[in-house]
Amino acid sequence: MRNILITGASRGIGAACAREFASHGDRVFLNYNNSKSAAEKIAAETGAIPVKADVSNFEEVNRMRKIIGGCGRLDILVNNAGISQTKMFTDITESDWDNMFNVNVKGMYLVTRAFVDDMIAAKSGKIINVSSMWGVTGGSCEVHYSAAKAAVIGFTKALAKELGPSGINVNCVAPGVIDTDMNAHLSSDDLEALKNETPFMRIGKSEDVAKTVFFLASRNADFITGQIVNVDGGMVI
Ligand code: NAP
Repeated sequence: MRNILITGASRGIGAACAREFASHGDRVFLNYNNSKSAAEKIAAETGAIPVKADVSNFEEVNRMRKIIGGCGRLDILVNNAGISQTKMFTDITESDWDNMFNVNVKGMYLVTRAFVDDMIAAKSGKIINVSSMWGVTGGSCEVHYSAAKAAVIGFTKALAKELGPSGINVNCVAPGVIDTDMNAHLSSDDLEALKNETPFMRIGKSEDVAKTVFFLASRNADFITGQIVNVDGGMVI
């Protein structure tokens, strides 16, 4: 049985990843921050183990490492926890900027740092980071989000080179528009326009991303590392 940690798994894409891995018999550690009852509901459904930690907080991440470490070594880490915000560049405050990078970038660094030593010692492990198509192309009115998600891509490529000799795969998915709470603010007209820009003419589902993450975590992806896999219905080609 593989041990998997999925950050930000109380809702959306992370919750779909938890369901996907658990349905294949993996032991899933389901990280959440604020959504305790949602996390407990998914845990009850799937048998996953909920673990509270704000990924941007060093002490909370280390507490999570100790809890999970008591159950053995982590085989797979999915750095999914993230926040977004839509604002004109000139309206982004310093605290908006810091918050964006603290969760999306520092969180990924802290969680990876907390678990990577054991993977290096075992010369085995798979790390999958969740970026965004905006990290690839840049998105208007989302400069801080786009910059943070581009940092996820740079982190993925650099770490893949460093950890390849240790037998660890580091890859990244870059979702397009996915139907989660993150896009709940979009109007039906906005969603229709986004659908029309997508070759598959639909908004993505969390499960579309979860199945790709599951593939990247599988033995079928053993020779794939440092890659950015767009899961966006063909929006970015
Ligand atoms: P979502 O529905 O808003 O869920 C976000 C998840 O991240 C929640 O489980 C939340 O946990 C968790 N989270 C936020 N801040 C956290 C923190 N400080 N510590 C731990 N967990 C934290 O978003 P989503 O759409 O599933 O997004 C998941 C990932 O996909 C993000 O990295 C996002 O940037 C990326 N993405 C999404 C889309 C899209 O269209 N939806 C597109 C491209 C990329 P709590 O609720 O428990 O706090």
